[in-house]
Amino acid sequence: MRVPLRICSLLVLAAALFLSGAAPAFCRGASESAPVSRTEIGLLGTTCTITTYGGDAEPAFDAAFKRIAEIEDRMTVSRDDSEVIRVNKAAGVKPVRVSPDTFSVIARGIEFSRLGDGAFDITVGPLVKLWGIGTAAARVPSQKEIRDALSHVGWRDVELSQKDSSVFLKRTGMALDLGAIAKGYAADEVARILREHGIASALINLGGNVLTVGRKPDGTPWRIGAQNPEQPRGTHIGIVEIGQEAVVTSGSYERYFEAGGRRYHHILDTRTGFPVSNGLAAVMIVTPDSTTADGYSTLVFALGLERGRRLVESSAGAIEALFITESREVHLTPGLKKSFRLSDPRFSLRD
Ligand code: ADP
Ligand code: MG
Repeated sequence: MRVPLRICSLLVLAAALFLSGAAPAFCRGASESAPVSRTEIGLLGTTCTITTYGGDAEPAFDAAFKRIAEIEDRMTVSRDDSEVIRVNKAAGVKPVRVSPDTFSVIARGIEFSRLGDGAFDITVGPLVKLWGIGTAAARVPSQKEIRDALSHVGWRDVELSQKDSSVFLKRTGMALDLGAIAKGYAADEVARILREHGIASALINLGGNVLTVGRKPDGTPWRIGAQNPEQPRGTHIGIVEIGQEAVVTSGSYERYFEAGGRRYHHILDTRTGFPVSNGLAAVMIVTPDSTTADGYSTLVFALGLERGRRLVESSAGAIEALFITESREVHLTPGLKKSFRLSDPRFSLRD
């Protein structure tokens, strides 16, 4: 059950920007472009904050949060009903008609699944459900359970019909899980709505999925913190300066549980059925489109440093990445070399 808690005041702005990882520029006085922020806790299973600089913020906030709730209603798998749940229930039986929203997110999910040859798999649902990471039911499954769940994972068995806006999972037991990209899509939609409301400058943060609109009114770049994977949220190893872009991070520290002295996190290896274990602690993606950033963050994390970097670099600068390894090495793709500044001496920059 979602319990939206609305906080809207300049007083909480410090907390909101702290959560966003942005280094705030306070105290510009009550000028027209003074930042105004609204936070809702619980939407998309996380904390969502929108900060605008100038313009009529309140109606824009109302419309944006309504849209986030609509996207969640359509795509969640953690309630009794949603479009995605209906598709999953009809697996092996029949195609289900879905909204253009859900259709386009699933289509992007198939694209990311193809790009990583299944390392990212939009049909990872049975495995996610089995582990229950982030829920009270989290546990280490048996090998048999893992084998069974893995046998129902396979993005090639998703049939999309653009004409009918329908989705068909060809085999019983299959299940979509849009957890790796839905927040990214929601952020893109929020940006579109803010622009429609005449907001020229804003910072959107949906549970760490950051997307900016326009430039900061003072002309300085947006400054976004790179989360230290070993420290509490809001502790950064450095800052990246960006323009109108998305910054999305996937990390093994984001959601996990511990059992038998071991830590099990929420990005799952579609070959072994266990949490991905490749030496990476986090991957941050920077690119204009937030759905792409979110998809790539999970995909590149799953691919690992070498294959992930090769994929990102094949975009010829359209997509940039920062990798943090478990041994505290930081690797950057060429486009981030000038815009990222490392500040934590316990981490070291590598080529
Ligand atoms: P977060 O949700 O913490 O922002 P991500 O964007 O990296 O992190 O998405 C992680 C979520 O993606 C998991 O909670 C799960 O729902 C889903 N997922 C886990 N493993 C995979 C995978 N191999 N391919 C696609 N989605 C995955
Ligand atoms: Mg993601």
